[in-house]
Order: sequence, then structure tokens, then C-alpha cells
Amino acid sequence: MIQRRKTRQITIGDDQHGCVKIGGDAPVSVQTMTAGYTYDVDRCVAEIHKLAAAGADLVRVAVPERKDTQALHHIIPQVSVPIVADVHFHYERALEAIEAGVHKIRLNPGNISDRQQVLKVIDACKERRLPIRVGVNEGSIVERKDKQKRMKELGAVFSDNKHGHLMAIMIAKLEEYLDIFYERDFYDIVISAKSIDPMLVIDVYSEISKRFDHPLHLGVTHAGPKETGTIRSVVPLGSLLTRGIGDTLRISYANDPVYEVEDGLELLYVLGLRERRGAELIACPTCGRIQVDLFKLVQEVRKKLAEEIELPIKVAVMGCVVNGPGEAEGADVAIFAGDKRGIIYVQGERVANVPEEEILDRLLHECRVFQGRVQSGQAKLGQKVVEIIPPDPIGELGSGFDKIAAGKVEKLTPLTISQS
Ligand code: SF4
Repeated sequence: MIQRRKTRQITIGDDQHGCVKIGGDAPVSVQTMTAGYTYDVDRCVAEIHKLAAAGADLVRVAVPERKDTQALHHIIPQVSVPIVADVHFHYERALEAIEAGVHKIRLNPGNISDRQQVLKVIDACKERRLPIRVGVNEGSIVERKDKQKRMKELGAVFSDNKHGHLMAIMIAKLEEYLDIFYERDFYDIVISAKSIDPMLVIDVYSEISKRFDHPLHLGVTHAGPKETGTIRSVVPLGSLLTRGIGDTLRISYANDPVYEVEDGLELLYVLGLRERRGAELIACPTCGRIQVDLFKLVQEVRKKLAEEIELPIKVAVMGCVVNGPGEAEGADVAIFAGDKRGIIYVQGERVANVPEEEILDRLLHECRVFQGRVQSGQAKLGQKVVEIIPPDPIGELGSGFDKIAAGKVEKLTPLTISQS
């Protein structure tokens, strides 16, 4: 079990939008950012609904212009998750967003640095008890000409670290900026220090976690397309989270932000940092034994499970009966494909043997029935009732399915196969 680092706790939201706690003993929350224009009210509302349905705890919106902060007056009453305004360059946007009822402000010390302006935002947030994220980004920590000078000045601080100069600048910038907040006795702060370099992300958050007790927002900025951004994000975030560092996170992809939410949640599920919502899908990678279109089936099953199953039912989709039973052990509902057919088990008991074209519907039917039994107390998740003994994968057995279907394989006893 992961021991979480102790941090201060802040609360974001209200009765209509729900209250999300970040830090302390609160579960690690998942956030994302809308990809469309905030001033396009209907589309923005629709996107926020979609992200909330995917499981986002908070949604951030960009407010580069006054028309974006004005749109917040119409957006916020229509949505059901707390909204964060992402403010860059113009402190007035922060004041306007606060006026419009936003639940949290994100400031970037790299582009709003005037002390008086920052104090105005702090005072407005303090009056409405709104938290602020101080988000330092490697790419915008200081002006470029200043960066060279400060790299020389501060590089010695972490001289044994490959990114020492950048870490030093990011931490120094945070310290300087946070002093403005402390001057006003303002501590409802979340901090972040993102970079595109995953190793710098690990190093800088490790260092920050020793220096500040504010909750940490983890992220790799501009991680790229989902195909490569997943590894770029999950490696550093997973590394930090397993060490108890991190209270909220955003995964950033050049893709639909729904993927950011799904992958952020999955990361927390596999680390045991959040209770799973919805089904857990296990699937085999396929090999030369495969006799159905498993990749297509897995994608269809994934989509349908997300739409129809609320409980964390473990579902296994396996390409054959050779390794499948062992690998699907512990699954509540499992399908083992064979020669254009599939055998379906519910908690180890065979319930169906259907042609390939019926696998999806029958599997979902069994998942729905099983979910109903769990909800009515007739079954329990993770309770396997029949041992599935896999056949010997070596020798004349091959994929084994035809022999199993014909009842010739003794080792599957007592699970002899018959048409359902
Ligand atoms: S379950 Fe069967 S088809 Fe899938 S990878 Fe394992 S042996 Fe190959």
C-alpha cells in the first residue's frame, strides 16, 4: 500500500458542482482541460459534461480574452463539476473569472509576475475562499534573456543533477512567488512544476515535495500525441505516485481530453489510489493460436462495458483456452475464444458456448445479469466458485478448442462443453 505524503488540504467547489478536496487524506483527483473555445458557450458546456461523465473531478478552461470570462457566467450554472480558470498574462482575466463564479484560479508565475497584480488576485480569492494553483512551467518560468543569467547563478544549487539549473530556477521562482501569498496569509494553494522532460518532472517534484506542504498537481506538459504521450506521462507520474507524491493530476495529450481522464483514472486504479468505477477489462495480446477477430471484439467490449456496467466487474477476453483460463483467473466474467466461437464463464461456471457473431451480445448480457445479482446481494465481486483447469498447451492439443468442444479433453473436466 502506498503511503501518501502529508499535505495541507484544500476544498474546491460548492453544493451545485460538488466539493472536491485536494491534499491531506483526500483521494488523488483527476483533472483535465477543455480543448474548445470557452467563449463558445454551448460547445464548452457540452465538452465539460462529456469530461465529467468520463470521470473528471475538475475541469479547467482557458480564458485568454474577456469574452471567455464573460462566457463563464453562462457556463458555470449549466455544469456539475468545479471549474478552474486558467489565467495567463492578464490578471484582469482572473478577477473577471472570480466574478463569474469560477471555483479555482491557476496562475503562471512566468507570465503574471507583477506583485500588485498578484495581490489583487489573492485578495479576490481570499474574499470568496477560492484556492489558487501556482503553476510553474519549465517553458515559461522566466524571460529567456533572464533565464541564461539565472541558470548560471542557480545552477550550482543542484550541481550533481543533470537538470540542476532548471530545477533551481523553477524552485526559486516558486519560493519567490509563494512569498507574495504568505504575505497575505493565503495558504489555499496547490503547486505544480511541469516540464516536457519526464525525468525533470520526477526530480523537480521530488525536491518540491521536501520543501512545501502544499498539495501537488502532477503533470508532464505538452506530452504529445496519446500514442507516445502515455508513456511520457505515466512513467514520471506513476513513479512519483508510488512514492506518495502527488494529490491531483492532469495527463496532457494532443488528443481528445477524454483520454486524459480515462488514463489518469486508470493510473490511479492500478496503483490502488482510487476505487475503480466501472468494469475492469483484461484481454490477451493474441498469438498464432487465435481463431476470432479478438482486437475488434476487445474494442467493442470495452466501449459497451463503459456504457453499461457501473460496478467494478473484472471481465476477461481471452483468445483461446490454452493460456486463457490461467490468465483470466479471478475474473468475474470471462470469454475464451476458439474456432469462430466463444465459451463464456461467470465466476468460473460455464454459461454459454456461442458463435463468434453472438459473443459480444451474450457477454454483455452475462455482465448485466451478473451486475444485477451483485446489486441484489446474490453474488459478490471477485468470488470465484469453480476452478477452471487449463488444458496442456503442449503437443497435439493445438488451440484445444475443437477437442474441448467435442468433449475429448479430459483435463477440462468437470467443465465439459455443450451448446447453450
Ligand atoms: S490466450 Fe491464447 S490466443 Fe491469447 S495470447 Fe494466450 S495463448 Fe495466445
